[in-house]
Amino acid sequence: MDTLWEPGVRMPAAFIGHGVPQNALLDNRYTRAWRDFGQAVPRPRAILVISAHWYTNATAVTGMPRPRTIHDFYGFGQELYDVSYPAPGLPELADEVADLASPTWVGCDIDSWGIDHGTWSVLMHAFPEASIPVVQLSLNAFQGFDYHLELGRRLGELRDSGVLILGSGNIVHNLGAIDRSRDDDAFVWAHRFDDAARAILESTSPTEVATLDAHPDFGHAVPTPDHYLPLLYAAAIAGEEPMSQLVDGHEGGSVSMAAYTVGMPPPG
Ligand code: ZN
Repeated sequence: MDTLWEPGVRMPAAFIGHGVPQNALLDNRYTRAWRDFGQAVPRPRAILVISAHWYTNATAVTGMPRPRTIHDFYGFGQELYDVSYPAPGLPELADEVADLASPTWVGCDIDSWGIDHGTWSVLMHAFPEASIPVVQLSLNAFQGFDYHLELGRRLGELRDSGVLILGSGNIVHNLGAIDRSRDDDAFVWAHRFDDAARAILESTSPTEVATLDAHPDFGHAVPTPDHYLPLLYAAAIAGEEPMSQLVDGHEGGSVSMAAYTVGMPPPG
């Protein structure tokens, strides 16, 4: 990551399938893909993350200068509770997000959220030095797919001002069906849904992933919307640019680890 962003350059964007929190501390093919992604993109002015784990009753953006690391999970090893990702915030980016979203109202959160594990489990690999400012946008649980697509479209403008936008969730996320003996040997319905999403994301209309709520496997793949909604933002930010698969695979047979990028610089 030697290239600095400069005006006139459109930043890439991505959707990352984050999986279990342990990925923060593991070295596997997913985390290596995240690291390679971080090294390949121009060094951004800031990172805006739409994480599945800030699924709440309003649209809000973190506006604190020093966001805390949030350990928003239960029953994991102490080493995960000891994790700190001390990236600064960027209050002026929170203002830019609110301006772009207008007339949609975006609250400015200065004391409730911070950087959750949907964000830090990925950024610890992609940007391990934690020196680039990080801002999170919440997922408004009261809104439908169209609302999230429209907000994503507006935020896409930030790509032209040096902001790296990441959606962090999982395309297939059914914790009730997890079978640790399966991993990549995923359930047939999980493969089917993942493949359907891939075909759309790699087309010139990635936002059509919003129509997958009519797919016969949607109920199994997306039992709750939280991990799927960040994909809508990434697709909307891509606009009419086809996305490219960064990595694929499954955890526990029912969580897709697929990640997609758009606008990456040519290799080399
Ligand atoms: Zn998650």
